[in-house]
Amino acid sequence: MTPGRVRDPMPGSLPSSPLLSVRGVRKAFGEHVVLDDLSLDVHAHQVVVLIGASGSGKSTLLRCIDLLEDVDDGVIELEGQDITDPRLDADTVRARIGMVFQAYNLFPHLRVLDNLTLAPRLVHGTGRDQARAEAMAVLDRVGLADRATAFPDELSGGQQQRVAIARALVGRPAVMLLDEVTSALDPELVGEVLQLLAELKQTGLTMVVATHEMGFAREVADEVCFLHEGRVHERGTPAQVLGDPRQERTREFLRRIT
Ligand code: ADP
Ligand code: MG
Repeated sequence: MTPGRVRDPMPGSLPSSPLLSVRGVRKAFGEHVVLDDLSLDVHAHQVVVLIGASGSGKSTLLRCIDLLEDVDDGVIELEGQDITDPRLDADTVRARIGMVFQAYNLFPHLRVLDNLTLAPRLVHGTGRDQARAEAMAVLDRVGLADRATAFPDELSGGQQQRVAIARALVGRPAVMLLDEVTSALDPELVGEVLQLLAELKQTGLTMVVATHEMGFAREVADEVCFLHEGRVHERGTPAQVLGDPRQERTREFLRRIT
């Protein structure tokens, strides 16, 4: 199947091959095996939510997909291409992936618009006018076009995280990876960021989201994956995994966090 068809399946039909396929991935830090023969498929337009105890490997998995960590074994395919192939240029692969972290990591000395145009201009050689036009379109998408000339510290934490999400959307990534993007926010600012993710899902964006926000998982996830002992220990619809977990470990985790 060609990448175009994976991204744009026939209406009403499930694409037959996943957009992102993690197969048999192992990742250890020294003796500590964090991901142990972990497999996970994500289809186009799906939102997959990763849950699991602190230290269960959610961040490590997302970092492996974004090539910020080398895997010890296994394969990660994006649109049918093995992106763990060391012959590939990591920046070119990363341009197809949008990653957002817990700490928004905006450049404090750059205005919002320049935060969005920096990588396209420096890494991808996009011209100034085109980079600005694309950045403005994305800022509009996250509802912050009117803050384009502000500096990050003039924005609320929720707005800063929305800018970070906008920055990851520049260049139209095939998949977005979001790692606990609301964990650093004051409680009253969490809602606007989760609301934005729900809106982005409506536009068909494919996302893998590590979060402790079970309400978000329940409402927005197509699939919930519970990570335990380096694997996807249980997976299913939010209703199944969160409402009627089959595995004792999942039940135990959910009891502890609720
Ligand atoms: P989660 O995001 O689910 O909380 P992480 O992926 O951050 O889990 O961490 C999983 C385990 O891997 C933890 O025990 C953590 O200490 C360990 N770990 C993560 N990154 C490193 C690293 N760079 N070096 C050594 N250990 C690490
Ligand atoms: Mg983490």
